[in-house]
Amino acid sequence: SELLLQAQDLTRHYSVSRGLFKPKATVKALNGVSFTLAPRKTLAVVGESGCGKSTLARQLTLIEPPTRGTLKIRGVDTAGADVKALRRDVQMVFQNPFASLNPRKTIATTLAEPLLINTPLSAAERQERVEALATKVGLRPEHLRRYPHMFSGGQRQRIAIARAMILNPGIVVADEPVSALDVSIQAQILNLFMDLQDEFGTGYVFISHNLSVVEHVADEVMVMYLGAAVEVGDKRTLFASPLHPYTRALMSATPALRKADRRERIVIHGELPSPLNPPTGCAFHKRCPLALPRCAQDTPQLRDVDGRRVACHVV
Ligand code: SF4
Ligand code: MG
Repeated sequence: SELLLQAQDLTRHYSVSRGLFKPKATVKALNGVSFTLAPRKTLAVVGESGCGKSTLARQLTLIEPPTRGTLKIRGVDTAGADVKALRRDVQMVFQNPFASLNPRKTIATTLAEPLLINTPLSAAERQERVEALATKVGLRPEHLRRYPHMFSGGQRQRIAIARAMILNPGIVVADEPVSALDVSIQAQILNLFMDLQDEFGTGYVFISHNLSVVEHVADEVMVMYLGAAVEVGDKRTLFASPLHPYTRALMSATPALRKADRRERIVIHGELPSPLNPPTGCAFHKRCPLALPRCAQDTPQLRDVDGRRVACHVV
């Protein structure tokens, strides 16, 4: 089937001022990321904050153009395309549903608005669509007359998901959509995402630092470090045998996964380096327990190893 997303060498650098009398510096927030997303599939993007996940989300939602590389949505190159029309096809769900809902609008108004702006549906048809989707996300008809503050965090995230899905987009980018919720609610919301995907065929880009969440929802996993993908592959392959030292360290930090990995806890020392002044060679070399002398000079490229792509000189 047709691919929803094709990112090729997607790169975003920012020019930042370091003060009046200093030359501008370049923040390399995203460095040559490539992947595809098919309908009904979930790509999980994993990494620490500062790894480029949010920059990637801004690229995919067409908020800013790439510095280099291409992004295609349903085969259409987003460079020079009608970005407004393409944006309808890529919707976003945020970590904090309260911030993404207008407190002065009823849920019915919030859900009907995108239909009013973007479709020729009549008022009756809009209402029908809103009620049908509200039911699917687990809301009751009387909820539609209420305001966001009258709901729990989990219900608000259901509303935010309904709003993201109301135009039936091909792609939803979800940025830590359950990390602000009680653990008891998280699985319900993840299952809702998966039910909606089954029904509508939506492709998800699911940004999360939580590997238990990723294991639950992902088909493919892309592990990012300092703006670049270090390991990309099928979820089962990656969780069964992570190869990149950074992936292995992340997995070993999740107790439920450490057992499956059958390896000792790997502790990563030091902080994520600044993308303003990234290390030479492998960006991970200053923290990597397996680093060799050459790792400080040669930047490893992604290559195929045991059914996934991995960027490391040692594996
Ligand atoms: Fe570690 Fe070297 Fe592999 Fe980088 S290339 S992850 S520093 S072993
Ligand atoms: Mg799925």
